[in-house]
Amino acid sequence: MNLSILAYGNPILKQKCLQIKENAPEIQKLVTDMWDTMENANGCGLASPQIGKTLQLFVVDSQITYKNLDTEDQILYFGKDDKGIKETFINAKITHSSKETWEDYEGCLSIPGLSQKVKRPWGITIEYQDQNFTKHTKTFTGLTARIIQHEYDHTLGILYTDHLKPLTKKMMESKLKKITNGNVMVGYPMKFL
Ligand code: ZN
Repeated sequence: MNLSILAYGNPILKQKCLQIKENAPEIQKLVTDMWDTMENANGCGLASPQIGKTLQLFVVDSQITYKNLDTEDQILYFGKDDKGIKETFINAKITHSSKETWEDYEGCLSIPGLSQKVKRPWGITIEYQDQNFTKHTKTFTGLTARIIQHEYDHTLGILYTDHLKPLTKKMMESKLKKITNGNVMVGYPMKFL
């Protein structure tokens, strides 16, 4: 089921998310709805607070991003033998971040039409459970690691705009206000305050 995505300014997006108990009954349906909602919005990641649930749950599809890049950018944005992932993350915790960082443009389905450069570690190690609550510890790099960090931030109540320099954020302020007020053109269902 395709759900509405909460727009920037909604206080739910600033909340810290709760751990999910293994086999919580509504989780499988929620995961399916998250994938439907993300794909309908042509996104590469979605976190549960964006659909109004403050749970430690997000989905990432960097495979679609990989497929849409030309060969040169695939090499630039992805590690060797890395063609992206399509994965559900439950109760995730980043346990290590590389010292090496890089900047790239990021957007967010809760902040339609805008993007800004965000500096993030190139690689991360993350502990999480998949949709079947099987535990994993994996290391990701490049664009996949960037998307994971963006979505993981959502589960901590952090948006990419929180990483920007004060002046950059100030320059976005009027546009952000328009989004909060629903004064924006967007190709997928959104919920405004
Ligand atoms: Zn986002």
